[in-house]
Amino acid sequence: MSENKQCDMIIIGGGIGGLSCAALLAKQGFRPLVLEMNAKTGGRVLGESEKGFTYEYFPIGVTPVRNHSFEILSRVLNLNESEINIIGPENMGFAYRGRSGEWEFMDNVNILLGDISEDFDPSHLFDLWGLDEKERELAIKVLGELYLMTPDQIDTLDAEDITFKEFLDKGLYDVPWAVDNFFGFFANMAMVEPIDLVSAAEYVRILQDSFNNGGGGYPAGGCMHVADILTKKVIELGGAVRTNTKVEKIDIQNSSVTGVITTEGKKISAPVVISNAGIHPTVLKLAGEEHFDKRYVSYVKDLVPAWGLTSQIYFLKKPVLDFHISVLYSDSGWWDLERYTKIKNGHVPDDVVVYAMVPSNYDPSVAPEGKQILTAGTVCPSDPGAEEIEMLTQKAEALLFKFWPEIIPAIEFKKYGGPAQVSALTRDHVQHGQGGECMGLGQIAGQCGSTRPSAATPVRGLFLVGIDAGGNAGMGLHQSVDSALKVSQQVGRYCRKRQVVV
Ligand SMILES: Cc1cc2nc3c(=O)[nH]c(=O)nc-3n(C[C@H](O)[C@H](O)[C@H](O)COP(=O)(O)OP(=O)(O)OC[C@H]3O[C@@H](n4cnc5c(N)ncnc54)[C@H](O)[C@@H]3O)c2cc1C
Repeated sequence: MSENKQCDMIIIGGGIGGLSCAALLAKQGFRPLVLEMNAKTGGRVLGESEKGFTYEYFPIGVTPVRNHSFEILSRVLNLNESEINIIGPENMGFAYRGRSGEWEFMDNVNILLGDISEDFDPSHLFDLWGLDEKERELAIKVLGELYLMTPDQIDTLDAEDITFKEFLDKGLYDVPWAVDNFFGFFANMAMVEPIDLVSAAEYVRILQDSFNNGGGGYPAGGCMHVADILTKKVIELGGAVRTNTKVEKIDIQNSSVTGVITTEGKKISAPVVISNAGIHPTVLKLAGEEHFDKRYVSYVKDLVPAWGLTSQIYFLKKPVLDFHISVLYSDSGWWDLERYTKIKNGHVPDDVVVYAMVPSNYDPSVAPEGKQILTAGTVCPSDPGAEEIEMLTQKAEALLFKFWPEIIPAIEFKKYGGPAQVSALTRDHVQHGQGGECMGLGQIAGQCGSTRPSAATPVRGLFLVGIDAGGNAGMGLHQSVDSALKVSQQVGRYCRKRQVVV
């Protein structure tokens, strides 16, 4: 589509959700126009190439590795493996401090199944946790039953709309203490949320996804490669992508969308606007509360953002790490709401959960030959201004260096990314505590699965796409792409039914 030709719909934001939606609508024959405020598309997977390193500003581990919604997207858009290819981790390290009070580390733990030929083998973990025979039996029973839960059983849990903690509190399982701690850690690490907020149904789905289809993958060429491929696809299929264009306002007349107004004061008209900018910024700022009834505004304000990550990227002048992904946690170093409240109130914990990933061990092309790139960090609140973030960052780095002191002399330079950077780069901070969340509304009970916000808003012609709305299940990118697959169909139907598109 040429720049001056009228578009059929505007998509605010060129994140992976917005770009996927645009490409899918273009595939249906529409002419979508993507308006992206940054100089490049990508949103939360944005990054750059510098001194031979290609990297994302924030750490991304793709789950699942196989059967990801990227696979459906690729099929529909005729993309091949060289365009979107998720590489699974081969070597996972696991460090743990439990009852003994001592840190122990285990290499090559087979639980993330980056390669399809691997078999799930929790015995590594049982050894690390120091379980006796009886505890091993109990651990196998509870993990096995979750692993084998059928889709119908998970849907029933979804309908119950309870947290994973509430599910465990039903007393259906005799959970050994180490598995209980693992569950708390896994909620923080995989879902970036506390166990007493995360939905039970989503917890089980993501646990099964990680154990069945692999977790912690990395796209060949880096995440920016995926964003570039999708951007090209939008244009190739007849859509347009305009960067450095920030939408200031969504123009609404008589409860119907008429287009958008950019920060430069330019009106761009379209009968349909799909916002990838997040549900809070879209409703409360870009459209404005006055265009919705009070009940919808209260509903949106009550939606809670998921948590954030505070992380650093270490650019290493020589290869010193042989793992793809490693996690470090202790029984006291993961957060539920009660523990986190203490930290908010000034308590400094001994340990934090640490997540470390070496993208260049997945795909050597993302670092110059003979060098390495490492991302590592810990969970933190989504509030860009939360004071405890600095302390958590330092704790995570200290623990990382305790296990791998060889990183320190190998550092060429490092970069920081946390909730303030996520918000500045991708999402306006429009209400307290919101803006720096990793995964939008995430997997929080009451606002995910079947209770995920609908993509259609009460304003005619205004839709939402991406991590916050319209998708069904799964974490992060999986959910953003799932949303795009569904929203593109919904909007396509809407346009055809109303013939709003010429
Ligand atoms: C620290 C961190 C760690 C993460 N880790 C993982 C992980 O391990 N695994 C995983 O699957 N996912 C992870 N995620 C989540 C994943 O990155 C997101 O789910 C996904 O990238 C979101 O895509 P999206 O299109 O829904 O939204 P976004 O990427 O947020 O895209 C929104 C786009 O809209 C643009 N925009 C916003 N406002 C405007 C405006 N007014 N005008 C124009 N443009 C605008 C933004 O610039 C952005 O490009 C992580 C995210 C973060 C921040």
